Amino acid sequence: MSDLETFRKATRAWLTDNCPPEMREPVTGEDDICWGGRRFQFQSEAQRLWLERMAERGWTVPTWPKAYGGGGLSKEEAAVLQQEMRALGCRVPLFSFGIWMLGPVLLQYGTEEQRLEHLPRIARGEIRWCQGYSEPNAGSDLASLATRAEVHEDHFLVNGQKIWTSYADLSDWIFCLVRTDTTRKQGGISFLLFDMETPGVSTRPTRLISGKSPFCETFFENVKVPRRNLVGELQGGWPIAKYLLAHEREMIGGFSSVVAAKSVGRTAAEALGLDPQGRLLDLHLRSQIARFEVDEAAFAAWMEMTTDRARQGAGHPAVSSALKFYGAELNKRRWELLVASGGADALEWEGVRSGDGTVVRSWLRTKGNSIEGGTSEVQLNVVAKHLLGLPGA
Ligand SMILES: Cc1cc2nc3c(=O)[nH]c(=O)nc-3n(C[C@H](O)[C@H](O)[C@H](O)COP(=O)(O)OP(=O)(O)OC[C@H]3O[C@@H](n4cnc5c(N)ncnc54)[C@H](O)[C@@H]3O)c2cc1C
Repeated sequence: MSDLETFRKATRAWLTDNCPPEMREPVTGEDDICWGGRRFQFQSEAQRLWLERMAERGWTVPTWPKAYGGGGLSKEEAAVLQQEMRALGCRVPLFSFGIWMLGPVLLQYGTEEQRLEHLPRIARGEIRWCQGYSEPNAGSDLASLATRAEVHEDHFLVNGQKIWTSYADLSDWIFCLVRTDTTRKQGGISFLLFDMETPGVSTRPTRLISGKSPFCETFFENVKVPRRNLVGELQGGWPIAKYLLAHEREMIGGFSSVVAAKSVGRTAAEALGLDPQGRLLDLHLRSQIARFEVDEAAFAAWMEMTTDRARQGAGHPAVSSALKFYGAELNKRRWELLVASGGADALEWEGVRSGDGTVVRSWLRTKGNSIEGGTSEVQLNVVAKHLLGLPGA
């Protein structure tokens, strides 16, 4: 038996013994997801236990080095772990901007001290991070950001405002783009980390059409940030910001398949019933769902191929824009179909039948997929210019 087969067998056995049955059920919505952090309230003992067990093995971040709280797995082993988790229906134990966005940045640009301080706490789900990029006048044109950080001998003094900061009110730390030089646009930006409990940081939640407040306005008033919390060089934040965005875009593109563990076809079959041949009763939806599931499988294969290429250093930086665009469109289609399959019940906003509007609220949330992490129009511009080589984009 090859090493990888031995690893697969051992992994399957461990997952079978250690993943609580509740954590093998699909998540029921955003509130059922484990985000960790100082203030996180676990939804169940099973959720807490699953995070603890996976973190202990370093499997919340399987490919990170063990010294930083990771599992030290090779990419082949990590792929096997993912396949086995999928096969058993195991939930992802921890959702985290720290894992998806800041972690890769610290591995690439952080000092050893920064890695040792932050990565293990990210891996164990102890600290929840938010992203301080967008500002009222700097969204797509991110490099126009105006939040100032005055440079002092041993600290920075930060003043300004961020907007659309996802979960800022629930997060413990922020990774933040600040302006340390007003004479240059991209070249005047630095990348800082700081605790959201630092005096001078405040947040104001923004209420959305879904009835929830997943993001905030974030204000900084004379926030004192130690000099050692600068990542990379002073004025060297722009390439780091872009590196992080590529990871964010891949994450958003692939997010739908992680959250929606239950297939659209299976959900529709339970809601609408099957004909004697075992086919979905609704002919129109049947063809739409079939097309969706084929596209979804093709997208998953494309994601896997892209990840492999990136790990081999053969990736193209603009591919993350294509993945982000298509993944967002796919997720919007997924929730359109789930609403259509649920009939009138799925549109109920409050009440027992709909679980207080789980489906309709998630459907409304997907509208933001084509804006967050860079809008679809901007991603299509990047694809046109850098992948297709079209003029004038
Ligand atoms: C759900 C959600 C979560 C978010 N979370 C965070 C977060 O945690 N942290 C954070 O920092 N930000 C976050 N954002 C902000 C997000 O990154 C910005 O909304 C996005 O970059 C667009 O910026 P903007 O809103 O200022 O729109 P604008 O940049 O003003 O764009 C307005 C419109 O103009 C179009 N447009 C702009 N420039 C071009 C161009 N060159 N070519 C063609 N069309 C163009 C856009 O596509 C869009 O339709 C979040 C947004 C959403 C919706």
